[in-house]
Amino acid sequence: MRADPAAQLRLLDLQELDTRLAQLRHRRRSVPQIAELATLEQRAAALRDQEVAVRTAVSDLERAQAKADADVEAVRDRIARDQRMLEAGSVASARQLEDLQHEIASLTTRIAVLEDAELEVMEQLEDAQRRASAVAADVTALAEQRAAAEAARDAAFRDIDAEGTRVAAERARVAPELPADLLGLYDKVRTDAGGVGAAALHRGRCQGCQLTLTPADLGRIRGLAADEVVRCEECRRILVRTPESGL
Ligand SMILES: [Zn+2]
Repeated sequence: MRADPAAQLRLLDLQELDTRLAQLRHRRRSVPQIAELATLEQRAAALRDQEVAVRTAVSDLERAQAKADADVEAVRDRIARDQRMLEAGSVASARQLEDLQHEIASLTTRIAVLEDAELEVMEQLEDAQRRASAVAADVTALAEQRAAAEAARDAAFRDIDAEGTRVAAERARVAPELPADLLGLYDKVRTDAGGVGAAALHRGRCQGCQLTLTPADLGRIRGLAADEVVRCEECRRILVRTPESGL
């Protein structure tokens, strides 16, 4: 392939722009907040599980407390009723009176047991409510952390994308200056060779693969016409001759 030496040199400018675009794509993928947000999302998922568990505990204990309250209330009502019967003097026999007094004594013992149970449930409920508040505070703090990380990530994206737009515009200006066949070869090699399609021959060395050419290779290149498109024997990239090529 042949191409004007000026077009070959211009290819190095295009390569620089393509390298810059590749670096920007890499920077966009490597924005630190992307990894941070992934970690925060894992913590958020764990917190959602905790939230469900603690809410279930609170509602279970609220039901248990309502039942414990009702149990105490029922026994209190029964004692009050027995007391009224005693005070009204409506008990007919000594046997009945003894039964009633016995029942009041036994209900009083029972109510102490029930009140202990009621107190214990209340303490458990308060504990669960404290845990629910702590989880809710964690959820709020995490949401703030995520919002901050998202804002920082989006700001980084905006900077990178603005730079990318500038470089892409420059590339769109440079690419049409090059002959179609040279550009086609460059794009093909660039795809095959990890993003670098053209490299300068600098002081006898290919800047694409850093290989120093043998004197024989340099002599062969020296003998070629200036518009001959040279390829590196090692990496197959387009080797562009410059005044610093060492030929
Ligand atoms: Zn090379």
